[in-house]
Amino acid sequence: MDYRKSWRLERLCIFIGGILAVTAALFHAALFLCAGSMVTVAGVLQSVVFCRCPACRAFLDPRGGLPNYCPDCGKPLADAKSEK
Ligand SMILES: [Zn+2]
Repeated sequence: MDYRKSWRLERLCIFIGGILAVTAALFHAALFLCAGSMVTVAGVLQSVVFCRCPACRAFLDPRGGLPNYCPDCGKPLADAKSEK
């Protein structure tokens, strides 16, 4: 999985986890809270594994959006992909 897919998947998991948490709060359903927590944690964990610079494998902190350049090697992320 490339870093962009990983980033999108993390955002989606956090969004779904949030919806499940709100549902749990509205209906007093602990099962929804557990499911929401698991979806959110799974999304964050996969981003730790897959949201990395394609050139140097440095972790790209997905908070606040993806950077245009790798914070470690400085290569543009769009170009770094083709230099594997
Ligand atoms: Zn890099």
